Amino acid sequence: MRKKILVTGGAGFLGSHLCERLLNEGNEVVCLDNYFTGQKSNVVHLLNNPYFELVRHDVTMPFYIEVDEIYNLACPASPIHYQFNPIKTVKTSVMGAINMLGLAKRIKAKILQASTSEVYGDPQIHPQTESYWGHVNPIGERACYDEGKRAAETLFVNYHKQNNVRIKIMRIFNTYGPRMHPNDGRVVSNFIVQALKGEDITLYGDGQQTRSFCYYSDLIDGMIRLMNTGDDFTGPVNVGNPNEFTIRELAEKIIQLTGSGSKIISRPLPSDDPMQRQPDITLARQKLNWEPKIQLDEGLMHTIEYFKTTVK
Ligand code: NAD
Ligand code: UDP
Repeated sequence: MRKKILVTGGAGFLGSHLCERLLNEGNEVVCLDNYFTGQKSNVVHLLNNPYFELVRHDVTMPFYIEVDEIYNLACPASPIHYQFNPIKTVKTSVMGAINMLGLAKRIKAKILQASTSEVYGDPQIHPQTESYWGHVNPIGERACYDEGKRAAETLFVNYHKQNNVRIKIMRIFNTYGPRMHPNDGRVVSNFIVQALKGEDITLYGDGQQTRSFCYYSDLIDGMIRLMNTGDDFTGPVNVGNPNEFTIRELAEKIIQLTGSGSKIISRPLPSDDPMQRQPDITLARQKLNWEPKIQLDEGLMHTIEYFKTTVK
């Protein structure tokens, strides 16, 4: 049956892929975005689909619509963008969650929150399981994002307990792929763009900090599987690729795969930059019957091909 689905942040990197997937599966999609870090060009190819609608709107303001499901992705995700206006970032996470949960309650829609591995902060246990409460500096540079997303999880859980709203909380670990903005500022797009332009590769700190990188198609698959789980499963659930790399290894891999002559240069490590991150995906395997299929080399090759067509 055709469902009507609202995707907030739908003109962003992940949101645009989600809109496309949901349309391909025969649904009607309303994409809402204020274009802060997303862009119309990410969804322009969907505009001639009669089941697709694009709405310019800011989630900090209430929005009314009749839909069956809501995917709440609206929020800048790159540290440079979420730190640009930290107060706005908190408002987007918290007021955005309140507005979308209020809507879900009123229209009895199911709602999924795009939460993040950042709720674990600079983690002291490794790999991270959902039962870990995290290690977050509430007054640091990353707090606007981390604490905003943590408060959003609190709101989700309480709308569920108090008002029976059907919720799903997904803790997304570093995800990359085509349609990341060339100036997004996150590590994979930065390194690929620098390598393709023959510019220096900016390695923050000594590059020994780790991340585990998931390709976007795997992530979107996990997201839709989570939305389709039974109402008794709310999460939170980690979704990401557990293969862990140091940031220096990533830089070297991208230089090799692009055949670039770029050199690696050191830049200061931003404050509170997590030293290690790797998802424990046991729960996702059990509850979503999901695991990632695309490993780093293959995903990077596709992403490099994409940036070759956009970076001049
Ligand atoms: P993105 O920056 O490309 O997408 C975010 C989208 O939200 C953009 O289109 C932006 O314009 C929109 N937006 C921002 N503030 C808004 C507001 N106030 N009102 C309406 N729209 C607004 O980033 P992404 O990587 O696609 O991330 C999507 C979601 O997934 C975010 O909520 C992010 O926190 C979460 N997430 C992503 C990752 C990842 O690695 N990609 C990891 C963890 C969590
Ligand atoms: N990073 C880097 N050079 C860059 C951008 C990021 O060395 O040009 C590092 C950053 O310090 C962090 C890691 O790469 O340790 C991942 O950064 P990103 O901003 O992609 O995501 P997050 O820190 O939120 O996981």
